[in-house]
Amino acid sequence: MAPFGAQVGPMSGKRDYYDVLGISRDASEGQIKQSFRSLARKYHPDKNPDNPEAESMFKEIQEAYAILSNPEERRKYDVFGHERPGGSPFGSRGFQGVDINFDDLFGGGFESIFSQFFGGQQQDKSHGSDLLVRHSVPFQAAMDGMDDDIEIEVLKHCSSCNGSGSNIEGGSRTCPSCEGRGRIDEISMIGPFRQRVRKDCAPCRGSGRLVTDPCSECNGDGRLLQSIQVKFSVSPGITSGNRLRMRGQGEAPNTLNGYPGDLYIEIDVEKHQWFERDGADLLMALPLSFADLTLGTTIEIPHIDSENLSIKVPPSSNPGETITIPGRGLPFNGNSPRRGSVTVVLRLQSPKKPTRSLKNKIKEIRAELEESIPPIEERIREEANSRRSR
Ligand SMILES: [Zn+2]
Ligand SMILES: [Zn+2]
Repeated sequence: MAPFGAQVGPMSGKRDYYDVLGISRDASEGQIKQSFRSLARKYHPDKNPDNPEAESMFKEIQEAYAILSNPEERRKYDVFGHERPGGSPFGSRGFQGVDINFDDLFGGGFESIFSQFFGGQQQDKSHGSDLLVRHSVPFQAAMDGMDDDIEIEVLKHCSSCNGSGSNIEGGSRTCPSCEGRGRIDEISMIGPFRQRVRKDCAPCRGSGRLVTDPCSECNGDGRLLQSIQVKFSVSPGITSGNRLRMRGQGEAPNTLNGYPGDLYIEIDVEKHQWFERDGADLLMALPLSFADLTLGTTIEIPHIDSENLSIKVPPSSNPGETITIPGRGLPFNGNSPRRGSVTVVLRLQSPKKPTRSLKNKIKEIRAELEESIPPIEERIREEANSRRSR
């Protein structure tokens, strides 16, 4: 069992982009560029011929820079890490690396190469943005599951103009320059290369629509911040950090015939009053008096499955010993009826302010107690031996 409260997040084989560039999470744009430039110079293939290790470093640095130098991509990375919804921002094949002239790493010739990475699908106006909200549920939800709902403010199509941006017939029309896509492709030269560059369409300013008579509700944008209620349910065994994906509940697209984004609800399970959690297993400490530890006892406490938890403490117990009760922990995530276990660590609770009469009684039995256990040095040795063999 892991120590109290240990929680391990999802693991990805990829290194953290900030670590790759050796910068802190609040690094400025200038610091990011400076660090990229100096690392890229160090690992550039021209300086490291036939060195596959340097080559893969060079690619890793480029990928980290491509993301962190783009404010929108950096924000998404800060929220989702490598586990972002919709897969790699570089497409299904992942980041492929780019050719950068060594000379460009001294000037500024490399920026334009990176600035066009996300020109396409990321700012695609026909797909609304995904949203992420965090939501706390009581600990009991991890036992029983629960139905819940949240109210959030989301950009949705304006109902007054049905998302067209104008409530007068003919007051808005599809932009003829981009045919409603909001983006246009241009061929331009980057160094010696011909490159297709995707740009916001100028006449419609990327919206794909020309509005001559703007709707007074949304000022012609076609979208409005609206408060919506989202119902969802969490299943038994839910863990903090689990994300529920609500398809189509994210932002409306900026065009009439696009798709809304998705809403992700990240669940935070509140702490239990006394249990620490390790997956489906629960761990608690039970402070007992000297008498209960010596004589043994049975403790009954209310439990998460609404049946009392009965903890049988055998006679001659010692603090630090554990009692495991199988099958009374949390359900495993999924539909399995199996449940984890409850582990109880025994502790000694000495009286803080014993009365004079209690002190006198303990003094009376002190000598007898001392005779009933081994001499002090033997006790210490025995304890050390059992601790080491654990
Ligand atoms: Zn409107
Ligand atoms: Zn246009």
